[in-house]
Amino acid sequence: ELTVKEIQVWLDKFTEKIEANKAYLSDLDTPIGDGDHGNNMGRGVAAYQESLAKQKPTTIPDTFKVMTMAMISKVGGASGPLYGSAFMGMTKAAQGMDAFTSQDELQTIIAAGLDGIKQRGKAEVDDKTMVDVWDAIVGLIEAGDFTAEAVEAAKNNTKDMLAKKGRASYLGERSIGHIDPGAASSALLFESLIEVL
Ligand code: ADP
Ligand code: MG
Ligand code: MG
Repeated sequence: ELTVKEIQVWLDKFTEKIEANKAYLSDLDTPIGDGDHGNNMGRGVAAYQESLAKQKPTTIPDTFKVMTMAMISKVGGASGPLYGSAFMGMTKAAQGMDAFTSQDELQTIIAAGLDGIKQRGKAEVDDKTMVDVWDAIVGLIEAGDFTAEAVEAAKNNTKDMLAKKGRASYLGERSIGHIDPGAASSALLFESLIEVL
């Protein structure tokens, strides 16, 4: 069972992993982007922690809402509004829920996050974006195979894809052979989630 307590531990772990992997995420964004993804995400999680320190939300949707606002107002770039839309989708889907008590409920929440990203960015599976990881996670939860190894594999799957959205798409064929940075930060989000399950 995931209550507001576990959800906040999840997002604390995500904060720690983003901070620990800032250079890695920006390095991934260098050959196929503008090298800022780690710093962008770092600003987002820092803003989330600042908000939390001022006023700790007491429900799951309010917690997601704080992350939504942090991502939208502080991240910038493509990923800010996209993560913002993901957390906004999850905020709406979690309305009125005190806890996620089943695999089904968790899947519904993550699927709502995926929908938010797709509506905002219009990317589909196989376009080499964070959508590839979010979509894979929904499937993994459904299959009962939500493991860190499977999350890592979903991230690595973006390596051989041709980018069709975002900055990396400007490179065409040259985008092939590099892991997508947003897929990598999303993998950190889901590896953090696994740690609280
Ligand atoms: P920017 O490209 O503006 O510098 P970031 O580097 O922070 O922003 O984020 C880049 C990531 O955003 C990409 O690796 C990709 O995962 C994601 N992204 C970009 N465009 C889209 C889109 N249209 N839909 C989904 N994800 C996208
Ligand atoms: Mg970038
Ligand atoms: Mg940028």
